Amino acid sequence: MKLLRSVPQPMPAGPDFASGAPLPRARPRRLRRTPALRALVCEHAVAVSDLIEPLFVVPGRGVRQEVPSMPGVFVQSVDRLVEDVREGHDLGLRAVLLFGVPQHKDEQASELADPRGVVQRAIGALKRELPDLLVIADLCACEYTSHGHCGLLDERGVIDNDRTLALLARGALSYAACGVDMVAPSDMMDGRVAYLRHALDEAGHLETGILSYAVKYASALYGPFRDAAQSTPAFGDRRTHQMDPPNAREAIKEAQLDAAEGADMIMVKPALGYLDIVWRVREAVNLPVAAYSVSGEYAMLKAAARNGWIDEDRAVDELLVGCKRAGADAIVTYFARSFARRHNGKPHTGGRTR
Ligand SMILES: [Zn+2]
Repeated sequence: MKLLRSVPQPMPAGPDFASGAPLPRARPRRLRRTPALRALVCEHAVAVSDLIEPLFVVPGRGVRQEVPSMPGVFVQSVDRLVEDVREGHDLGLRAVLLFGVPQHKDEQASELADPRGVVQRAIGALKRELPDLLVIADLCACEYTSHGHCGLLDERGVIDNDRTLALLARGALSYAACGVDMVAPSDMMDGRVAYLRHALDEAGHLETGILSYAVKYASALYGPFRDAAQSTPAFGDRRTHQMDPPNAREAIKEAQLDAAEGADMIMVKPALGYLDIVWRVREAVNLPVAAYSVSGEYAMLKAAARNGWIDEDRAVDELLVGCKRAGADAIVTYFARSFARRHNGKPHTGGRTR
């Protein structure tokens, strides 16, 4: 076989290059020329007020421990949590999402609905100290059950959907009694939004909202969270209730069901690998949509940044503006605090502060 000659040819100099060829008629680069132009034509921005900060609360006093797989994220007792949230509030953060790690776990998830439980005490303390803070409480059994599953088990060891609804309702009512603004059921049981709405209304909690984790995938990216919440299932996994990652139509179905059942907002979780789902849900449901950028996404970015492989701040800004571009109204992110520190009061476009 004859080899082709590949001797590099010198580039023709200046305007003679490709003479006779038409010059580009459209030059999108013109609008990228200066920071002012880029800011003028910028399509999406992230504001600190778009962010929801997830927080872990544990029993005790004076407790503040860093989660090993989530540098910069802490599990804290109520007293330390209030101090910490006040700092975030001063930086412009207006919404928190609480997760509780109880003193005691059992098969019935007894502490979930305990009026003196950690989450209940945290809600009360935060609403007392920072009345205008939006307090959202995650609602699921997995942090409270000794087996780590998201619901009550039947004699076969299978989650009993309908008995779990009653447990979740007791939890929601105990949160509402402490003044929570929204409950966020993350259990993925069928029919829970209608059940919770009914229970809250019956008890007179007409203003307590429901932020439904309508679309929650059985993701590998929840690992660091389970370290923090000590909620790894003792056996089996969560694939019988969380969604299968290849499925998209099913996400629309879940979101529409929850909207019809009375959800006030819809959550999609995780975010990074599921921005197409955020987009589809945004198009299909006429409710605000929140994207949850999960613990594994946080851990990946942190690990890469610590190795000097990426620029953390730029990567975070890019990830968050990507969620907005996909249609998220709100973003739950463990980077809320660092983002607020950097952009307090200024919307951020993902490239350069406006
Ligand atoms: Zn759960």
